[in-house]
Amino acid sequence: MAIDHVPQAGVNANAPQVAPLDASKLKITLSETLKAIPAPESLVFGGTMSDHMMIVTYHPETGWSDPEIKPYGPLTLDPTSSCFQYSTNLFEGMKAYVGSDGEPRLFRPNMNMARLERTRDRIALPTFDTNELIKLIKKLVVIESRWIPNVPGHSLYVRPTMIGTRPSLGVAASDHATLYVICCPTGPYFRTGARPLSLMAVGEHIRAWPGGTGGYKLAGNYAPTFLPQKLAAKAGYDQVLWLLEDRVTEAGAMNFFAVVKREDGDLDILTSPLDGTILPGVTRDSMLTLIAAHGSKNSLRNIPTSLKLYPHERTFTIGELVQWSEEGRLLEAFTVGTAVVVAGVGRIGSEGRDDIVLPKHEGSMGPIARALHEKITAIQEGREQWEDWSVPCS
Ligand SMILES: *Cc1c(COP(=O)(O)O)cnc(C)c1O
Repeated sequence: MAIDHVPQAGVNANAPQVAPLDASKLKITLSETLKAIPAPESLVFGGTMSDHMMIVTYHPETGWSDPEIKPYGPLTLDPTSSCFQYSTNLFEGMKAYVGSDGEPRLFRPNMNMARLERTRDRIALPTFDTNELIKLIKKLVVIESRWIPNVPGHSLYVRPTMIGTRPSLGVAASDHATLYVICCPTGPYFRTGARPLSLMAVGEHIRAWPGGTGGYKLAGNYAPTFLPQKLAAKAGYDQVLWLLEDRVTEAGAMNFFAVVKREDGDLDILTSPLDGTILPGVTRDSMLTLIAAHGSKNSLRNIPTSLKLYPHERTFTIGELVQWSEEGRLLEAFTVGTAVVVAGVGRIGSEGRDDIVLPKHEGSMGPIARALHEKITAIQEGREQWEDWSVPCS
């Protein structure tokens, strides 16, 4: 039956049973010629992909194909494909680290899978069991483990991607899809060396708004950020600080934190709440946990245990940041995300004027950002244990 119906993934109870995504059906074809691995210090983020990719497709009549790991290479798609016409694209970003024992580990992959599932549902792409995808990602990482630079601060960036491939110009949910995973070795994201980031506060271009899709890792959220990013670069700033009216939301494609000294001398550490305008970052969530644990369960290095850190998920404005800065209470600002891990912020401005200049620190980070960075990388690289955050691949 070839009817150009308008399918709704997962809602038709009478739909015939189709094949589920099944990692046990994986077919592996290894590349006959392996690429030369670039020197770690020459790596540019996303510039060199590894030898292999995982790929699996969904057809509405047959379901999920047998997954394949095969040599990295181009896709061939119909020009009408939903992903090209209607941006039915999503992605995830995660990293595999190798510890001194040589074992590759993923960091909190369940959080990436839960977010992928929410994003997939939001654009009505065909459903699958993300536990099967984790198994496939682990297999791919083990095959690509020679690509993980055994140098601190380096890792294999893993990019699960899902695209709608419905071959029709009809404006409807895509009932065909391709799911693939590609990998690239990475070092420090910003090669600014010891210089902290500068942020341009932008209110006229809005990244995310209430009821919008800013809380999902949809490819369509990123295209509109490139012009403002270019304007920021032209004005001499590294990244955009996204405002919603006067509320501080995120910076670039990273979550934003501010460290504010309290009347009692302890520290408030603020980040915006997950109200739909903020991407729920895995790194953000981890930072909030590590901040809350300071002084009791597991303290941060070089931060006195007597100093209390209060994490807050709450709305704050650019005006408040300026005021705290003028009062000398804004001690640090930093950004977090899988790719960057943690980056210190040195100044925030707009219209050619820096309204906020953060205190200078040795290197590019203040003591709180530095301690959090040290702690999270120790957990990611398997040197320290934290709950079930670091997950071995083999
Ligand atoms: C991916 C992303 C982040 C960071 O999320 P992590 O899970 O920590 O990598 C933050 N903001 C935006 C807009 C993002 O796309």
